[in-house]
Amino acid sequence: MNRKQKTIGLLGGMSWESTATYYRELNEGIKAKLGGLHSAKICLVSVDFAEIERLQHIEDWNGTAVILSEAAMAIEKGGADFLLICTNTMHKVAPQIEASISIPILHIADATAQKLREAGIEKVGLLGTRFTMEQDFYKGRLTEKYGIDVIVPEESEREDVHSVIYNELCLGIINENSRERYLKIIAQLTANGAEAVILGCTEIALLVQQNHTATPLYDTTAIHAEQAVLKALSS
Ligand code: GLU
Repeated sequence: MNRKQKTIGLLGGMSWESTATYYRELNEGIKAKLGGLHSAKICLVSVDFAEIERLQHIEDWNGTAVILSEAAMAIEKGGADFLLICTNTMHKVAPQIEASISIPILHIADATAQKLREAGIEKVGLLGTRFTMEQDFYKGRLTEKYGIDVIVPEESEREDVHSVIYNELCLGIINENSRERYLKIIAQLTANGAEAVILGCTEIALLVQQNHTATPLYDTTAIHAEQAVLKALSS
């Protein structure tokens, strides 16, 4: 089959542990659709996460936007037809990145919200970095654009979710105690009325998968990659 596919731009490295998942899932997705030796056309630029993490934690979001906009421009020059920012958190500066390029961004919260809407979910729990759980760029988009009610864990739970992301998952460390802690927090969100939980950080699915809990999980990495495959093959 000789179906034309678009080139998927990936702004990765945040962390590379989840960019590796994107790379695999995009290729598996294209192979499943086109068969044989087909694979995804990808243009990837991967940043140094230590630099990004340092700027995040001193709240220098403009500094992160400068680095990520430069990377996005290189991806566009490399021939990408559209862009995926391979992290939920850095969608905080998606508007600045978008302004620096002329290809469209496939927004991770839009892709996730569409899935939630298809399933008729009205109230959802959100796990992610402190920035994603506490600030408005992500929760606000789900609520204002899609009418989905978003709840987050309480402060000490948010602290644990955040620290496991930076001190374990982004370093490739999978810890059984952290999985138990996450599952307790997911159970609490469910008890508080969440019909499902968004794994709103691209590394969380390395730790917690659907077979660990009866609460429906929405893995943003898998959803983002799935939508990208559909977009790459659409005319
Ligand atoms: N990959 C994570 C996310 O989806 C966290 C790393 C980052 O801060 O970009 O939010």
